[in-house]
Amino acid sequence: MLIMSSIENSDGIKGFEKLQSLISASFGKIVIITHFNPDGDAIGSTLGLQMSLKKAGHTCHVIVPNDFPDFLKWLPGADEIITLPGNEEKIIQHIQSSDILFFVDFNDVRRMKGINEPVTQSQAFKVLIDHHPDPVVEVDCMLSDTNVSSSAELVYRFLQKTTLKDHMDREIALCLFVGIMTDTGCFSYNSSSPDTYFIVADLLCYGIDKDKIYYRIYDSFSSDRMRLLGFCLDKRMEYYPSHRTAMIWLSQKDQEKYNFQIGDSEGFVNYPLSIRGVRFSAFFIEKEDHVKVSFRSKGAFPVNTFSARHFNGGGHRNASGGEIYESLETALDLFRDLLPKYHDELIDYDE
Ligand code: 5GP
Ligand code: MN
Repeated sequence: MLIMSSIENSDGIKGFEKLQSLISASFGKIVIITHFNPDGDAIGSTLGLQMSLKKAGHTCHVIVPNDFPDFLKWLPGADEIITLPGNEEKIIQHIQSSDILFFVDFNDVRRMKGINEPVTQSQAFKVLIDHHPDPVVEVDCMLSDTNVSSSAELVYRFLQKTTLKDHMDREIALCLFVGIMTDTGCFSYNSSSPDTYFIVADLLCYGIDKDKIYYRIYDSFSSDRMRLLGFCLDKRMEYYPSHRTAMIWLSQKDQEKYNFQIGDSEGFVNYPLSIRGVRFSAFFIEKEDHVKVSFRSKGAFPVNTFSARHFNGGGHRNASGGEIYESLETALDLFRDLLPKYHDELIDYDE
């Protein structure tokens, strides 16, 4: 028996009835947008939603602000995702002519990057489906629930609540499963609710091959990427035991040496958390004109607040990211200098 999430309990949600009628009444033009640097949940949940809407007769496009990793490109429908740069005209046209705009898996309009401007001008009915705290997105219908594992879980719950549930099939189940699996680190975090497993059980009933999906996501790296990981752990990890913190950094030069491809550093930020006693980890990667940062924590230390305060970012309490338009050295120094200031919070946790 599923415990009610805000979507099942949708009577009080502004705009939900209108959304239901838009989806079930007539065929419309729909655009789904997810965030910059999309992960498995962003791609899985948007493709699952897109397929359901298409099967219901709508015209539906997925737009992503930049390219995404190869280990997600095999997903059904991934080859039709429209990305920047290179499709500016097409993206503006689709957004301008859409009746409904879905924003999926982000809580801050800035995460749409270059797509933000045409979206602001659009008169379409706007819907947010997301599981990050404190959304800052203006929409006509907000389906936001921080208690769920992933946006894919929220999409599943949304489909179940509308006529779209009649179109559920194996490919949609596969996409939603990928979203839940990747956003829970293969069911190791954000996945303590039995509901997540009821949903996964239902998805498995559509005949998806769970093991094969795992291999295709996690066992599809290049040998360069494996060597890069080894190099990072050996030469680029800094360990601060008195602050229960460790971090990894990667310069552009390092990336060149290991033939870096988009997605190659996915998951690197998690490794320092495997050190006994470490509760806070960070990963810094140098880009052309800025440094992208990822944070993870175990327990109470809120990395979303930390990222918002110091690295122009946000996210979840235990998984966040940000970016800083400074040199790599400046960004690393800022982080190193901040640790003593957070000392009390960092060591105050339950074993
Ligand atoms: P990752 O470290 O895997 O890029 O992101 C971890 C979490 O932080 C995700 O939930 C993601 O949405 C969020 N996040 C990552 N980068 C940013 C950012 O630049 N700004 C904000 N607000 N959130 C971010
Ligand atoms: Mn997510």
